[in-house]
Amino acid sequence: MSHTRTVLIVGGGIAGPAAAMALQKAGLDSVVYEAHPGSAENIGAFLTVAVNGVNALRTLGADQPAIAAGFPTTEIIVWSGTGKRLGAAAVSMTLADGTTGYTLKRADLYAALHNQAASRGIRIEHGKRLAAADAVSGGVRAGFTDGTSATADILIGCDGVHSTVRRIIDPTAPAPDYAGLINLGGYVRGVPVTAEPGTYHMIFGKRAFFGYALAPTGEVWWFANVPEPEEPTRDSRARISSSEWRQRLTDLFADDAGPATQLIQATAHQLAASPVHTMPRLRAWHTDRMIVIGDAAHAPSPTSGQGASLAIEDAVQLAKCLRDLPGPDRAFGTFEQLRRPRVEKIIKQAARVNNNKAATGLGRILRDRTMPVLMPAYVRFIANGKPGRQLYAHHIDWDTPCTY
Ligand SMILES: Cc1cc2nc3c(=O)[nH]c(=O)nc-3n(C[C@H](O)[C@H](O)[C@H](O)COP(=O)(O)OP(=O)(O)OC[C@H]3O[C@@H](n4cnc5c(N)ncnc54)[C@H](O)[C@@H]3O)c2cc1C
Repeated sequence: MSHTRTVLIVGGGIAGPAAAMALQKAGLDSVVYEAHPGSAENIGAFLTVAVNGVNALRTLGADQPAIAAGFPTTEIIVWSGTGKRLGAAAVSMTLADGTTGYTLKRADLYAALHNQAASRGIRIEHGKRLAAADAVSGGVRAGFTDGTSATADILIGCDGVHSTVRRIIDPTAPAPDYAGLINLGGYVRGVPVTAEPGTYHMIFGKRAFFGYALAPTGEVWWFANVPEPEEPTRDSRARISSSEWRQRLTDLFADDAGPATQLIQATAHQLAASPVHTMPRLRAWHTDRMIVIGDAAHAPSPTSGQGASLAIEDAVQLAKCLRDLPGPDRAFGTFEQLRRPRVEKIIKQAARVNNNKAATGLGRILRDRTMPVLMPAYVRFIANGKPGRQLYAHHIDWDTPCTY
């Protein structure tokens, strides 16, 4: 079977533009179709691109522009709601050349990746929501909700945790799991915090989880994970105003040590809550012409700090497989075999931490007692151990042919 030449990429978040750049480097033509008419909604959302993600961006020559609006982040200090320091852990590893992980506003990362792709001549079409996709002779045809369609040799679904492509590939694929937490976040100036720039402070509060980091600009970036057993609907979330959220969060963190309540009260911009989802294991990531990558295939809990980095690694690895292996089916199969063990291990580790975030009552007391003992061992494990190296030092060698 001949090599793939043309590609439809559905979703222009992180995996989409990264895949387009990787495919171009591999000699394939692609067009990115993004549902949002402009940039995605990103109120208060920020994330960390771990060193393995920066490393994968470097393979694409896109690391510097992508992380330019962020700041290096290397450590998490963990506190109990009573103000007891529970321990510290590496957020990332520092590679031999000084490369480390970066914290970025999601909107800045999206914009930087879009600009990089566009500057390389890659076409990104906005306002194109995929509705259906079918196999046609020698390829695939995508149909969009605006009535237009496009055809190519293959289609790559980079359409996130609520992926449409995933359901087209396997109509029986599981829906995302709600993690029992909602997330809110914000940015504040003028509230003094005792923190080194580049260090996250995470507080396992009595009723909810709070995290913040001081940016070198003096702005404090914060987020809250609030346990909510039933997933709130979009409508019920929309009915809660920002001032109501501020009050709710202030009440939730009122009994906790740390700056949570001052930071929340001082946040002037709108607050928006989003439920946290993860993806259960999928039976199949691909058919012979379509595949899902990034969150669409394997969204880990945000707690892992790895979703974006894994999406970028996927993009690089898939482009290599399509470059080196004859026919998309063989390339997709090899890609899945290469990627599954890594992503599934990371998903498992993150799920354990999520359970701690939602702990209440006896679970919370146990957590606060065991963490000071477990954290130092965990730090040594991540900083010096093989698991840490496997997680952060992962490097996809572009020049080595893709085999399995
Ligand atoms: C609160 C929170 C905190 C997080 N923190 C971190 C962190 O610190 N570190 C980290 O690495 N990861 C983090 N993540 C996860 C990270 O954001 C995701 O793993 C990452 O965005 C996945 O990239 P993606 O391109 O696969 O999907 P997305 O970034 O979700 O992009 C999917 C794109 O597809 C588009 N789309 C959807 N449906 C369609 C359709 N039918 N047609 C066309 N386009 C469509 C969407 O509009 C979107 O632009 C966090 C996530 C959350 C929710």
